[in-house]
Amino acid sequence: MPLYDYQCKQCQAVFEVRATFKEKEAGLKPECPHCQSKKTRQLLTSGLFLRKSDDSTTLTLPACGPNAGPGCCGG
Ligand SMILES: [Zn+2]
Repeated sequence: MPLYDYQCKQCQAVFEVRATFKEKEAGLKPECPHCQSKKTRQLLTSGLFLRKSDDSTTLTLPACGPNAGPGCCGG
């Protein structure tokens, strides 16, 4: 049975709800276990957490041509 993360709009508490796909399709209105409010919204984080991999910096090395000055390429 899949787990769904819900957040209560009343007290901001985050809780997990177990429901079948049928129950989910029928319109799930889970009750907050803390304040019994039904003003909840689903969090779409579980299972969809994607880690960004583009945080590595591409290093551009200076090109060493025939007119390269001292210090280039270890020279
Ligand atoms: Zn609540």
